[in-house]
Amino acid sequence: MDPDLATRLHEVDDSIASAARAAGRDPAGITRIVVTKFHPVTLVEQLHALGVRDVGENRQQELTAKSEAARGLDGLRWHFIGQAQTNKARAVRAAASAVHSVDRPRLADALDAAAQPGEPRLDVLLQINLTDDPGRGGVAPAGIEALAEKTAGCASLRVRGVMAVAPLDEEPAAAFARLRDYAARVRTVVPDADWISAGMTADFAAAIAAGATHLRIGSAITGPRPERG
Ligand SMILES: *Cc1c(COP(=O)(O)O)cnc(C)c1O
Repeated sequence: MDPDLATRLHEVDDSIASAARAAGRDPAGITRIVVTKFHPVTLVEQLHALGVRDVGENRQQELTAKSEAARGLDGLRWHFIGQAQTNKARAVRAAASAVHSVDRPRLADALDAAAQPGEPRLDVLLQINLTDDPGRGGVAPAGIEALAEKTAGCASLRVRGVMAVAPLDEEPAAAFARLRDYAARVRTVVPDADWISAGMTADFAAAIAAGATHLRIGSAITGPRPERG
């Protein structure tokens, strides 16, 4: 066990609690997801031993491999936070408790079609592009209501809210303020879709101030990521 892992986890959790109190929010309303991408499954095991139950991955193959290797860890929830290909929808669905990155109708359809009989509804978030660059992933804001309606119409999916990554060239507070408005637009379609997945190592305090309910924090907790192979 890396002794610094526990220290970093507790430091981040303390920062989350202070940012929540500063925003007049209850820290208990915030889910801290530890992003374990590129790290070995042994790190997931260590995090689990420290009480972590929510972990995130951004590539389907890594999600599938690690979730299988970590199958014995009680109560662990995998959040898929990366770009998903429609032909990998079954694999994503088999491994993930929640998919944060639904950004197009075809992906909603593919995840819906991948449901097996009797399988519970899959929690999904609509990923919103906070930049003007269509290559950055996420639905453009103009398409939010249409994607929400489409996804809400998929019987095996449950729309929980929105997800976004802050742009590189803008103050995160300004970008997350827009995200909060976009979340409200989703709730005009799905009234109980109250999750806001936002905030990474560099900007989680700003995300908490803007109402984030789910933080996706990697390197502040895990340490630097190994080179990807
Ligand atoms: C890698 C990743 C994170 C975590 O990034 P850190 O800066 O290491 O906290 C969060 N969200 C997404 C979508 C990611 O790909």
